[in-house]
Amino acid sequence: MKFAALNGERIEPAPRLKAKCPFCESEVIARCGKIRVWHWAHKSTKHCDHWWEPEKEWHRTWKNLFPNEWQEQGRRDQDGELHIADVLTPQGLALEFQHSAIAREEVDKRTAFHKDICWIVDGMRLESTINQFMDALKHARPLNSSGAHVYEVYYYDSRFLKKWSGLNAPVVIDFGMDDVWVIGRSLENSALMYTLKKTALVEQFKQGNRPPPVQIQRTPQRRRHRGLRRF
Ligand SMILES: [Zn+2]
Repeated sequence: MKFAALNGERIEPAPRLKAKCPFCESEVIARCGKIRVWHWAHKSTKHCDHWWEPEKEWHRTWKNLFPNEWQEQGRRDQDGELHIADVLTPQGLALEFQHSAIAREEVDKRTAFHKDICWIVDGMRLESTINQFMDALKHARPLNSSGAHVYEVYYYDSRFLKKWSGLNAPVVIDFGMDDVWVIGRSLENSALMYTLKKTALVEQFKQGNRPPPVQIQRTPQRRRHRGLRRF
């Protein structure tokens, strides 16, 4: 975690500091080493949010695009179980930055819990992910649309794309470029995707907006036509 509680303040880790977890109030210790990003760790090894993943620089870079007060906001489900959103905007939009592999069941659970959520996934963790996606793009089909350029990207061998498809929330894939790829709709064998400037995406997030879905419109006079709603 980036924040702990000390004397009623949210504070960031610094060497030899001790504080309390803002959620479960147990003791947390500042871990300020050279390998991992500086973070707070529960003294007892168990984290009070079962879904918490160890943070990388990649998480922090994304989180820091948003005000401190929005970061690491916890909410409890009806069973009292704690779920900490990486970012929770004042409008109630939860942002989850996912670096590690995660079971689809977990993704569905978190999506159902937060409802108004957008996943931002690190596409750079495995070289195979990048290569498979590049391959899939070679066979992608541009679609006519009124807004952004939409591509129908077939899953083929892109296990990553297949895995993140069909979710009841938008998924943004970060390949470390100025533009991110958005899964705007999932079909049986393909995903309808478009790119967005990362800076524009962040501005939309700050207003509580998610990247829009790709609309499939059917007009009676013409064969199937697909269009994209703008922001
Ligand atoms: Zn805790």
